Amino acid sequence: MNNVTTLQQKHGVHQETVATTAGVAADTAHHSVAPALHLSATYGWNDPCEKPGFDYSRSGNPTRQHLEQALAELEGASKGVVTATGMAAVDLPFNLVNPGDLVLAPHDCYGGTHRLLSARAKRGHFRLQFVDQTDREALSEAFSQKPKLVLIETPSNPLLRLTDIENIVALARQAGAITVADNTFLSPALQNPLQLGCDIVVHSTTKYINGHSDVVGGAVLARDAALGEELAWWANCTGVTGAPFDSYLTLRGLRTLFVRLKQQERTAHAIAKALSEDERVSNVYYPGLETHPGHDIAKRQQKGFGAMLSVEFADAVDTIELLRGLGIFTIAESLGGFESLVCTPATMTHASMDKAAQKAAGISKGLVRFSVGLEHESDLLADLNQSLDRAALVDRSLTAVSA
Ligand code: PLP
Repeated sequence: MNNVTTLQQKHGVHQETVATTAGVAADTAHHSVAPALHLSATYGWNDPCEKPGFDYSRSGNPTRQHLEQALAELEGASKGVVTATGMAAVDLPFNLVNPGDLVLAPHDCYGGTHRLLSARAKRGHFRLQFVDQTDREALSEAFSQKPKLVLIETPSNPLLRLTDIENIVALARQAGAITVADNTFLSPALQNPLQLGCDIVVHSTTKYINGHSDVVGGAVLARDAALGEELAWWANCTGVTGAPFDSYLTLRGLRTLFVRLKQQERTAHAIAKALSEDERVSNVYYPGLETHPGHDIAKRQQKGFGAMLSVEFADAVDTIELLRGLGIFTIAESLGGFESLVCTPATMTHASMDKAAQKAAGISKGLVRFSVGLEHESDLLADLNQSLDRAALVDRSLTAVSA
């Protein structure tokens, strides 16, 4: 299929083992088991004509390198670059395109990505077309214009639409375009876009990879070594590399990525199922439900369905009251942490998209997005139910009488 070597072929170990052992007992000075935190901004040279392995922390840092190598191994990449934020990671591959080059991006990507690409295109950094990547006709029309870079975000934020990665990669190869996949929603634990033929994977490590909502960070992983070096050059040149302490914390979070996601997915699936059977709900967007239009794609290209879901409630439900009434879910942007969060994308995560762009992406005013955490499933369901009871304006006793 492609020339990416799987982890097991390369090292004979599973991904969980890579996440757990990265940087462990690597300290030759003091034999510390936990990787050391190297905060130094600069490093001494033995001789002015002999560049040391690390010379300046913007260009390279031992703590950050442990994280870069771990994430590269987890995605099957040749090289990884850890950046200060997820947005810096999303932006980095756009240094590879020239003015006049066409970029294709999903019409329903993360609001910050939509804003970044629109602003760069407006300044003439490249030409930009947003396209519904689930629409085969729209895709073939877009590819006929010979794009140079194609951004994929699957599942998409916030509607959990599924894009067939291998199909886009095939179209991109014909057109001579590079493919970049934002894998934030699933993390390397549940999806490996390089294995499906993509050239670059980006992550907001703020989300599942760190998983504790206490670091903002990002990562860019390239399948090809030369491409990875080029991206690392740009990261150093533009100064977007991640801080050592952030890298230290993110590596610490990575240790438990696989167990966290397994549990979070189980609970999210249960909540999605319960809500899909609730008369006060009109639509549940969760790829694990058989009714989800991307369910078969998800089964094929993912290793799990993830822990994000979005919901549209019946007209009778006042969604603002619903959010206000929740006790365990915290109203906040972001996702992927140990704690359950809830938001209304139209006024929160995707507020930077204008109304027309929101409408085109299908983001309604009443859409509610849930990031399911590690609390007990029954407590989360009870919290949702008590708040729904109060927010449903329908006099349900009347419904019961008339039924
Ligand atoms: N990509 C996706 C899919 C996201 O959801 C986000 C943030 O929510 C980002 C990128 C940006 O990441 P950060 O907030 O770490 O800059």
